[in-house]
Amino acid sequence: MQREIVVFAESERLKKVLVYDKELCGLCEACGAVCPKGLLIVRDHQIVITDPNECIMCGFCATACPVGALRIEERS
Ligand code: SF4
Ligand code: SF4
Repeated sequence: MQREIVVFAESERLKKVLVYDKELCGLCEACGAVCPKGLLIVRDHQIVITDPNECIMCGFCATACPVGALRIEERS
């Protein structure tokens, strides 16, 4: 099965991207609960980011995710 990794947000300034792996996500909503901007919500059985431009790359969502479905990665 093809893995679907979605880029949720990216910061040119910080050289970081926030990626989401739907296959790992258990829809627990822990990420949405900790996002200081309230950007992460459940829609159509997956998490979506409501406004990528508002993401500050704080990584709280990635830290809160129990299965590693959200990750902050260094931009190459
Ligand atoms: S990195 Fe921070 S601001 Fe961006 S979606 Fe995650 S918790 Fe919200
Ligand atoms: S915390 Fe992780 S597993 Fe839970 S809804 Fe968010 S991305 Fe999915």
